[in-house]
Amino acid sequence: MAEKFTLIGSGLAGGLLAAFLGRRGYEVDLFERRADPRAGNFVGGRSINLALSTRGIHALTQLGLADQVLQHAIPMRGRLIHERDGALHFAPYDRDPAKYINSIGRASLNTVVIEAAQRYPSVRVQFNHRCTDVELETATAQVVNTETEATRQCRGDAVIGVDGAFSAVRQSMQRKIDRFEYDESYLAHGYKELTIPPGSKGEWQMEKEALHIWPRKSFMMIALPNPDGSFTCTLFWQFKGPSSFESVRCDEDVKRFFNTEFPDAVPLMPALLQEFRENPTGSLVTIRCAPWCYKDKVALLGDAAHAVVPFYGQGMNAAFEDCVVLDQCLAQFPDERGRAFTEYFSRRKENADALARLAVDNFIEMRDKTASRTFRAKKKIDHALEAFLPGVYLPLYTMVTFTRIPYADAARRARRQDYTLYSLLGLAILLILLLFGRLFGFN
Ligand SMILES: Cc1cc2nc3c(=O)[nH]c(=O)nc-3n(C[C@H](O)[C@H](O)[C@H](O)COP(=O)(O)OP(=O)(O)OC[C@H]3O[C@@H](n4cnc5c(N)ncnc54)[C@H](O)[C@@H]3O)c2cc1C
Repeated sequence: MAEKFTLIGSGLAGGLLAAFLGRRGYEVDLFERRADPRAGNFVGGRSINLALSTRGIHALTQLGLADQVLQHAIPMRGRLIHERDGALHFAPYDRDPAKYINSIGRASLNTVVIEAAQRYPSVRVQFNHRCTDVELETATAQVVNTETEATRQCRGDAVIGVDGAFSAVRQSMQRKIDRFEYDESYLAHGYKELTIPPGSKGEWQMEKEALHIWPRKSFMMIALPNPDGSFTCTLFWQFKGPSSFESVRCDEDVKRFFNTEFPDAVPLMPALLQEFRENPTGSLVTIRCAPWCYKDKVALLGDAAHAVVPFYGQGMNAAFEDCVVLDQCLAQFPDERGRAFTEYFSRRKENADALARLAVDNFIEMRDKTASRTFRAKKKIDHALEAFLPGVYLPLYTMVTFTRIPYADAARRARRQDYTLYSLLGLAILLILLLFGRLFGFN
């Protein structure tokens, strides 16, 4: 008889993982607390659109889904920086124009992966079912039908928690596994989504193929294009303080803040005040935990195992990469699920931790450094070095976004490159100074 997996959560990674498991012939019961997103009631609770890049595309390709997803994607070829005075600067993501990131809608991607899973007859997806507890030793998930309040015990061979940053499966592991490590840290910033609607003829009102950034040192706004001609803007701003979400108390305050900081965006945002009032302010959390598995009974994947802040545009991409690695480990140890889980954890943990650090660092880069000339010059030098030293020098952003080099290796390699580069630069300056000293007779 085929092994049976109970999956909790059919967000982005849950649907994709169910498809991977279905392809291997496993029985899969997937429970999602929300209603079916295809009924038009998608409540993301998260960003409306996301940046999909090489790692995520590779995972989708494994299941033949990449073309379908990319059909609706909008290429973002670089960062378009908006200064306060309206000046614009474009910085391409890579020296190769064929390398870009893709803006895709969360709801449509979610539908694609769920439908991909449902094409396998051994996969059953049940919406409106919330997991409340997991009995680890017996791999039994307790699920409540949110419409009838009826509770069921769902027993399988293994439970996989793909239930996001506030995972119920992980909470059961926290309660029941001795010395389970858990750490959550919040940024002082929250985020709010706002809209730039299409123009009167349905056109994009700003450059379509770019990720727009309004960097303002301690905070920023970004905007990603949508296929319907609109942009989803996200304001990342401190929760508290003299200039913060807390400090704006009325529409006038909001208007003043936007007119001062994002004057070129304001005329494009007719519903700004209403959206600012009504849209929720989300928090930004990094979650680290260990282990991600319990014997051959329970495992965690995606944000449930490693939520990261969104500034590298990699949370979903990393979750998709988890699916590929878990699939490989199950293939490598077909009769030893416990070993497959342990191998998956050991291959992913270091990389998830590295990504968590990179994502926080990239917030500082986006909100502060992208505005500076030095940053733009450094990007040009990066691209020139990449062209001059092919295969030897790779910018960090390129490694993270356009390759599948493990995140931890990418971070280490970037540190080595920087060290070599700055040492050579220091040496060159020293030699020039010595030469000048000789020429002009200084001692
Ligand atoms: C503002 C913002 C912007 C982002 N931008 C990007 C980006 O550009 N690129 C990128 O790669 N990543 C991005 N991310 C990160 C990305 O959203 C997550 O990494 C990704 O959604 C993780 O997928 P997941 O399936 O693990 O979790 P989720 O997508 O959160 O899915 C979890 C699912 O589990 C369900 N669930 C939760 N609890 C239960 C329960 N008890 N019982 C049953 N079901 C349950 C939820 O309803 C949900 O459907 C962004 C995140 C944020 C907040």
